[in-house]
Amino acid sequence: MPVKEKLYEGKAKIIFDTGRSDAYLVEYKDDATAFNAQKRGTIGDKGPVNRDVSAMLFRYLEERGIPTHYVESVGEREMVVRRLRMIPVEVVVRNVAAGSLAKRLGLEEGTVLRRPVLEFYYKDDDLGDPMINEYHIQALELATLEQVREMADLAWRVNEELSALLEKAGLRLIDFKLEFGLDEAGRVVLGDEISPDTCRFWDARTGEKLDKDRFRRDLGGVEEAYQEVLRRLREVLHDVAG
Ligand code: UDP
Repeated sequence: MPVKEKLYEGKAKIIFDTGRSDAYLVEYKDDATAFNAQKRGTIGDKGPVNRDVSAMLFRYLEERGIPTHYVESVGEREMVVRRLRMIPVEVVVRNVAAGSLAKRLGLEEGTVLRRPVLEFYYKDDDLGDPMINEYHIQALELATLEQVREMADLAWRVNEELSALLEKAGLRLIDFKLEFGLDEAGRVVLGDEISPDTCRFWDARTGEKLDKDRFRRDLGGVEEAYQEVLRRLREVLHDVAG
């Protein structure tokens, strides 16, 4: 892959042009931000860990019929992905009240929701990623109703698959955020990343937080928590693969 021209640098990843019309190269950075980039720092080895966790989870989901942008991992912190036209919407699924939901609805963090909740956020840093619904999405022409339904359907399936997988790893999937894009055929495909940066994972036995909340809330042991998620996933995925 000779050409490596930087196309876009985000808070946690850099996207490079590969010279291939159908693929991008994504580099996972150690940089971490929180609260709309008001808090900044780095987490040792976050890039390689999040690349590996995302790669494992994308492969796992692909095997279960969920289309993702994952092609292959290269080097220590890079991933080749299919080119998508990204939909500027974050899809959040929640099984347990935490973070902004706990605050907004006055629920105690850790309250198990009677049924999972799905939310949409408009991906716009200047606006601070406001929560929106399917009507806003259509009014702003961010996606069609059919695409909204497809994103929701895929997000529910991801929740089912990952909750079951993580349970085997002794982790509770509290909530997570997904991003989707359209491929050349106009199909909705899962993009971005799935990692301790974008999910809340709590240890099933102790309730310990093993995700970015350790960074957001200055809980310490951030690097160790990310490594622990990777270690447990490797363990169960080897088990699953037999
Ligand atoms: N999330 C994310 N990116 C964002 C906002 C949220 O990956 O820009 C993830 C977050 O890690 C959590 C879930 O989405 O797993 C729900 O986050 P929440 O709305 O509670 O916001 P937060 O407490 O992170 O501000």
